Amino acid sequence: MKRSYNFKDALTKEGIRLTRKDSQILQLNLGKICNLTCSHCHVNAGPHRKEVIQSDTVTKILNWFSMTNIPTLDLTGGTPEMIPDFRRLIEEVRNLPTPRKVIDRLNATIIEEPGYEWVPEFLARNEVEIIASMPCYEPENVEKQRGNGVFEKSISAFQKLNRLGYGSDPRLRIHFVYNPSGDFLPPDQEYLEAKYKIMMKEHFQIEFNQLYCITNMPISRFASWLKREDRLDDYNSLLKDAFNPKTIEGLMCRNTINVNWLGEVFDCDFNQMLNLPTYGKKDSMKVWEINLKEFSNEPIRTATHCFGCTAGSGSSCGGSLLN
Ligand code: SF4
Ligand code: SF4
Repeated sequence: MKRSYNFKDALTKEGIRLTRKDSQILQLNLGKICNLTCSHCHVNAGPHRKEVIQSDTVTKILNWFSMTNIPTLDLTGGTPEMIPDFRRLIEEVRNLPTPRKVIDRLNATIIEEPGYEWVPEFLARNEVEIIASMPCYEPENVEKQRGNGVFEKSISAFQKLNRLGYGSDPRLRIHFVYNPSGDFLPPDQEYLEAKYKIMMKEHFQIEFNQLYCITNMPISRFASWLKREDRLDDYNSLLKDAFNPKTIEGLMCRNTINVNWLGEVFDCDFNQMLNLPTYGKKDSMKVWEINLKEFSNEPIRTATHCFGCTAGSGSSCGGSLLN
């Protein structure tokens, strides 16, 4: 029997009104183009996607961002490095009078593709912090989720980044992302990080800073897989039953402004993929229309998938919320 799920009820029961706080991160999804088609991808990204941010949109976002005091720019996709304005965007942000941290959610395999040899040196030169998917230290599990050849290419790419100082130089930080290979919750982040560090070092001489455990969201490609397997309801029940109110304080939607390739604002990348715009002043509000003072108290748009962020130790773009 289907159960009814309501995230709002779960919040009300706990006496929580979910609103924004001061914005600390501008997360910019540059587009859906990617050289891979991973099974867990919440973006439905792939090589034939046409949604890519245009130059004039980049300029408008840069102009607005430069006038804010938001300390971090977080670039995601798709594969951000495949976007024509990727380098201009990073160089202009690094040259702003107020220093900002730039994060690149790197698809490491792109480094091994012809035409992208510039990626490691460029990221190192601009001291870009890297967050890269590495769902397992065993090839079979990685390739089941991300495709044939991905493991070997990722290893080679990480070794190149390590040689440039990533993982050892404090200015060059690289974090790995683990997400489960199926419909279960991630294990304890600290425990898994320790295990990853040993395995990556012993077998591949690879060093990294932190491991982020991220829960698979029951949306997009992963939801399609769950539906095909007739496991979507069970997975939603698992997430709901594991609801943990202690995760609410750290939810990424509270301090992150998420923006799509058209400049439109969302509360997070998942809401963006579900086309659920922020409550803001109007639907399809553009980021350059935001008044940060007013925006910082806006309510957050939630739905069933939000149980994915609040299950167990919680989940965000920075990994578990309670470790
Ligand atoms: S998960 Fe990342 S690398 Fe995989 S298809 Fe999606 S955007 Fe591309
Ligand atoms: S999916 Fe997660 S990050 Fe997005 S609005 Fe819901 S709780 Fe917040």
